[in-house]
Amino acid sequence: MPKGDGTGPMGAGPGTGRGMGGSGMGQGQGRGRMGGFGLGAGGNCVCPSCRKTIPHQQGVPCTQVKCPACGAAMTRER
Ligand SMILES: [Zn+2]
Repeated sequence: MPKGDGTGPMGAGPGTGRGMGGSGMGQGQGRGRMGGFGLGAGGNCVCPSCRKTIPHQQGVPCTQVKCPACGAAMTRER
């Protein structure tokens, strides 16, 4: 697009029909952003002692997380 702001005549046209009953559609778009946040972290922390796995918290190294089951230091899985 020459303008690049997304407000062109194609998106604003009445042909889409989303403007009339689109309240539900709007919520769907917001939920999509939330799902992307969860997938962004990636990976798990695994306990080398009892093999318990927990979701890795972004910004917190697994080696600084203690196993909730046995208290050992976790390590990064994969
Ligand atoms: Zn453990």
